Amino acid sequence: WKMMVQDTLDRIKNNKIDFVDFWFVDVFGELHSVSIPSYSLNEEHFVNGLEKLDASSIRGFKSVNKSDMLLVPDLSTYVVLPPVYDDGQRKNARMFANLYESDGKNEIRYNRDSRFIASKAVEKLGKFRLTKAMWGPELEFFIFDKVNLFPSAMGAMHSYGGSGYSIKSSEAPWEGGNASTRIGLKGGYYPAQPRDTLEGIRKDICDDVYRYFGIKVEAQHHEVATSGQCEINLLYNDTLAAADGVVSVKNLVKVKARKMGKVATFMPKPIYGDNASAMHIHQSLWNGNKNAMYDPDDVSELSQIGRYYIGGLLDHASALCAISNPTTNSYKRLVPDFEAPVNICWGVGNRSSAVRVPMYLHGNEYSKRIEYRVPDPTANIYLLEAALLLAGLDGIHNKKDPGDPVEENIYQMTPEQKRKYNISSLPYTLHDALGSLQSDKKFLEDVFTSDFVDSYVEMKNSECKSFAQTPTAWEVSMYIDV
Ligand code: GLN
Ligand code: MG
Ligand code: MG
Ligand code: MG
Repeated sequence: WKMMVQDTLDRIKNNKIDFVDFWFVDVFGELHSVSIPSYSLNEEHFVNGLEKLDASSIRGFKSVNKSDMLLVPDLSTYVVLPPVYDDGQRKNARMFANLYESDGKNEIRYNRDSRFIASKAVEKLGKFRLTKAMWGPELEFFIFDKVNLFPSAMGAMHSYGGSGYSIKSSEAPWEGGNASTRIGLKGGYYPAQPRDTLEGIRKDICDDVYRYFGIKVEAQHHEVATSGQCEINLLYNDTLAAADGVVSVKNLVKVKARKMGKVATFMPKPIYGDNASAMHIHQSLWNGNKNAMYDPDDVSELSQIGRYYIGGLLDHASALCAISNPTTNSYKRLVPDFEAPVNICWGVGNRSSAVRVPMYLHGNEYSKRIEYRVPDPTANIYLLEAALLLAGLDGIHNKKDPGDPVEENIYQMTPEQKRKYNISSLPYTLHDALGSLQSDKKFLEDVFTSDFVDSYVEMKNSECKSFAQTPTAWEVSMYIDV
């Protein structure tokens, strides 16, 4: 440990770092950063933590009367930041930090620290004779030229609401220009340049992701939506590394877009009638270097453990939505005909189902995994991984059979066919999802404290209320002259 501290201080010196930024997320996964000039950094900071933080000013944390909290850097997460972070003016490094509070005698991990919740979930693996869970996230997002909130929306912004906005994307045909170099509605899947105008930005981002964050990118491409939808897929990693990676890449995307005078957003459904952004997540469970989800003798090469894991995910899917799809806008994505899941079932290769078992690499133990297609990028990735893992392990523990895979296009099924397959629907609104979580939260026990779940539900419910009470442009156009 002492050596690791010395090693980190040496790296800071050898890399000629000017500032070290300490990163952590709030309850909703939003990144926060506090920075220390390298000349002021010493061993103390790494051993005993940084200055106390005023946790009452961080969304979802503490009340003012009990607000002191300690940030303790996780040295293993040290990386030099890409130059775009500071316009190349200085050299910066970052580390993630864990949050501690005092119980009067000792410093203890804070129960609303997302990284802590994720690491507690991982500890459950031991009981199942598993050593690690691996996660491969797919990030979808939009890069627009400009987003304007109409002045009338600004007042309402304080209560999260808003009544109007406009989006400008020079990739869309209705923005004018040469029609042959524009992307048509839902026509954005894999177009080449010059129709894809964002390839350069995405490649810049991918270079930085690998060179600075040390995360391999599996692929990057334009996504289906007309106006600037992008996708970057990260190679699988274990729980904390994958989650830290998602937080880092999301932040880099936003910083990069802003530096180019553009706006990147991970909001799921910014545009009515076109595809939305998901955060599909590929998962596998390992015992040493043996993939517990792989069985070469099964038709879909999926093990019994893999099947039960899916059973757990499907059984808790509605409650999970409160974490995997945590905004009111999330539910505008979960509708038919945009490749987003609407129903609670699984399939092999079926993209209209909530869980898909990819089958394109036969006989390859290392790539065997399941893909959970429900989440969107507004989810707090640490909480998401923890909740998915607990749901899946609950499935294994209680031997939950997910039934047969569904191979038909579920969007086109009649209610009768759905009943035959015993397929139910994902929640229709955030409010419904929060209700499902309240009545099905036992599987999260000991990892998510009940204090945490209750306050999460309360905060999110007040968001639903503000949304429900805000007149929108749609309502005005529907009802203004009724
Ligand atoms: N954007 C789609 C969704 O909302 C996914 C598209 C895809 O990756 N096939 O889930
Ligand atoms: Mg993809
Ligand atoms: Mg995609
Ligand atoms: Mg996918």
